[in-house]
Amino acid sequence: MQAPGLLIVLSGPSGAGKGTLCQALRAQMPELKYSVSATTRQPRAGEVEGINYYYITKEKFDEMLAQGEFLEWARVYDNYYGTPKKQVMESLERGEDIILEIDIQGAMQIKKQYPKGVFIFIVPPSIRELEKRITGRGTDSEEVIKKRLSCVQQELTYVSEYDYVVVNDEVQTAVEKLKAIIIAEKCRPQRKAFSLEWS
Ligand code: 5GP
Repeated sequence: MQAPGLLIVLSGPSGAGKGTLCQALRAQMPELKYSVSATTRQPRAGEVEGINYYYITKEKFDEMLAQGEFLEWARVYDNYYGTPKKQVMESLERGEDIILEIDIQGAMQIKKQYPKGVFIFIVPPSIRELEKRITGRGTDSEEVIKKRLSCVQQELTYVSEYDYVVVNDEVQTAVEKLKAIIIAEKCRPQRKAFSLEWS
């Protein structure tokens, strides 16, 4: 029997560096599938349709939602984001591991439906560092930055809902931790569909 793949949820406050870590992890674990989310926000410079996100209108988002096409969805600040069900289900059924990089509201929805997932909380080394990162990104307006920072304290309280917490102080160190988590999770006997020959 084929064991299902691992569903890995990388989550945490915005600006914690989830995106950077996820990219670095995927570069080092190329077999890891990535769930491309749908969003109503505009693409940022350098982002590519179908690679970073599927950029859709609010009408299309509502239609997909009504059709039950999202595994989870959330309004993050002024935009909507959702994880299309199809790719995630197909990967898991094929025994492929897949990673989702989503916000905390979305992670909590997945945890309810699929507690077997591996839930990893990424935190910045400090609030000051977080502020520096969000401001330094240069992609968001001052108003958006203010909103994001004011949510962080509250978001940090969700840490206890997760299986693991990784402090993103240095990218490669954090990636090593993520790899170790994934390797260890794959060794859990409950996840293995194997038979031992004892003769
Ligand atoms: P950004 O607009 O900076 O790419 O993402 C904003 C926030 O939305 C980030 O915290 C990101 O992890 C989260 N996000 C991206 N895709 C999804 C998704 O499909 N579902 C949920 N719930 N959050 C998402």
